[in-house]
Amino acid sequence: MIVAVASGKGGTGKTTVAASLASVWDGSVMGVDLDVEEPNLHLFLHPTIEGSETAYLMVPALDEARCTYCGACADLCQFGAISIMGQVTLTFPEMCHGCGGCIAVCPEKAVSAGRRELGEISWGRAGGAGFLAGRLRVGEAMSPPLMRLVKARLDHTLATNGGDAIIDAPPGVSCPAVNAVMDSDVILLVTEPTPFGVYDFKLAWEAFTPLGQPMGAVINRAGLGNDAIYRFCREKGLPILAEIPYDRAIAEAYARGRIIADLSAGLKETFVSLRDQIRDLAKAGRSREAAHA
Ligand code: SF4
Ligand code: SF4
Repeated sequence: MIVAVASGKGGTGKTTVAASLASVWDGSVMGVDLDVEEPNLHLFLHPTIEGSETAYLMVPALDEARCTYCGACADLCQFGAISIMGQVTLTFPEMCHGCGGCIAVCPEKAVSAGRRELGEISWGRAGGAGFLAGRLRVGEAMSPPLMRLVKARLDHTLATNGGDAIIDAPPGVSCPAVNAVMDSDVILLVTEPTPFGVYDFKLAWEAFTPLGQPMGAVINRAGLGNDAIYRFCREKGLPILAEIPYDRAIAEAYARGRIIADLSAGLKETFVSLRDQIRDLAKAGRSREAAHA
């Protein structure tokens, strides 16, 4: 099972929920940081890193001597990453999405596979859990290609070793966030009951609902703000799976990079119950899928 922990905005406590959930998971589990622009799951899981590799995207490398300036590559590229200006062919590797179309279409074999550095993928162990993370290169604009490579490694690991994964997704509802949650079995939306929290939570619910996975909410800093989030969840039939109280000790633990499920028996019980409800949601989702098949 893959659980994606997402949020409509940053700062809701998404990562601390993902880390605590991983800490109470029974059975083999991997904590995965797909928030590649700002990865911080490691700050809570404190993994021992066992390996890492630089990740690359295939981009066109041009052999000017072979080019006849026919324009077929530029016509094909939907991202404006190749341009012909008279007797000059220009490539813009930063705009390339790595589809390889220009290589396939060039009649002169003037384009071959080059590469652009995307960032780094690292892996290791965090207590009983596995750990996997991507970190985007500073200056790299596109995170989905690196996220796809992290997910490919995750898929391979799960296919080889079995087990579950808890993904710390990027905040928001843009392309990277959708990319992070789309192959999961359950989406957990973490929010806080403040006006900004509620507004962004609604956007996230609207963005992720069409994906069709079972979803549940976690209310962090419960007791702060008003009850609008509770009313919204009730109206939409979205189950609230856990509430984490607005509490100074929790805020301090968060600031120190501690697992909040370890703070008290009550919080541990909250996360154990969250884990069990996620399993129930996944099971219900699978039954629904089977009924529609
Ligand atoms: S690989 Fe695809 S996206 Fe990149 S330049 Fe070629 S056609 Fe454009
Ligand atoms: S398709 Fe090949 S030959 Fe034609 S402009 Fe592009 S690189 Fe040059």
